[in-house]
Amino acid sequence: ASFAAVEPGLVLSRFGQHADVEDSQGSVIRCNMRRSVASLVTGDRVIWRRSLQPTGGVDGVIDAVEERRSVLLRPDFYDGLKPVAANIDLMIIVSAVLPALSLNIIDRYLVAAEMTGIKPLLVINKVDLLSTAELAAVQQQLALYQQLGYDFLAVSAKNGMGMQQLLDYLHSGTSIFVGQSGVGKSSLMNNLMPGLEALTQEVSSNSGLGQHTTTVSRLYHLPDGGDLIDSPGIREFALWHLTAEEVTRGFTEFTPWLGRCKFRDCKHISDPGCAIMHAVESGAVSQERYDSYLKILASMAQDKPNHF
Ligand code: GDP
Ligand code: ZN
Repeated sequence: ASFAAVEPGLVLSRFGQHADVEDSQGSVIRCNMRRSVASLVTGDRVIWRRSLQPTGGVDGVIDAVEERRSVLLRPDFYDGLKPVAANIDLMIIVSAVLPALSLNIIDRYLVAAEMTGIKPLLVINKVDLLSTAELAAVQQQLALYQQLGYDFLAVSAKNGMGMQQLLDYLHSGTSIFVGQSGVGKSSLMNNLMPGLEALTQEVSSNSGLGQHTTTVSRLYHLPDGGDLIDSPGIREFALWHLTAEEVTRGFTEFTPWLGRCKFRDCKHISDPGCAIMHAVESGAVSQERYDSYLKILASMAQDKPNHF
């Protein structure tokens, strides 16, 4: 087959050796990948060429992938850490007030966000279930995170509260929703993009991948600007592939004290002369966040063998 000159494109989705590439006009072309393209995921910017004799099937070839500004990785049984989405600007960490809010889970996602360099946004969903006093209590709980420089929004996918503010965050780049099952990620995405459910089904029936389509990541354009990557495989990722040192760095308020502990190999758990523990005692670092840090370290040691 003969191809036209190279042009830039955006990967909307990847299926095995094929990928759906969007051209600069917004048309979507299914492409093959050259063997030299080692890794390709949703959100990748690519250089590709279109077929001069389009058939309506596979009508292009991807020559190269542009450098990524961020990448989300998922542990894979066969491949170790596997990229699942690229060039994400905003990680929307969704929690809910039902089941009860877990600050420890929020801290886990924040560590992940810090490690990937993707800006996090904390979203607390289902606030329609709270009284005014209960909502004020939640906001007070989250004030600590605002002091640490993390934005947070209280929203309801059900009654629309906070949804306009959430949209304002989404307009300026590529976002992904993460969070535990049942917190309302699908409800929020459907609220932002009423056509999402229908689109997802269309993708499933065309891709010929049957039941596996539920794990395919896909990029959507929001009606009023901004992109959303829906990636079922990464929604509930674990932190077990990180080292204890990386978790420490994920708690950014610890940074000023790192390297000031008495012992160079201080684990910041019970070591004498630990600068972080002193900071907790003096109130410079929050006791809650430090306890959460210890809980993450303990669970990492436990989680590891159970994962496969
Ligand atoms: P996901 O697993 O994170 O995608 O969560 P879903 O979107 O499937 O929602 C889980 C459950 O929570 C469903 O029964 C939703 O109807 C419910 N839910 C989602 N958002 C809200 C909300 O804002 N308020 C209330 N009361 N329920 C919600
Ligand atoms: Zn220490």
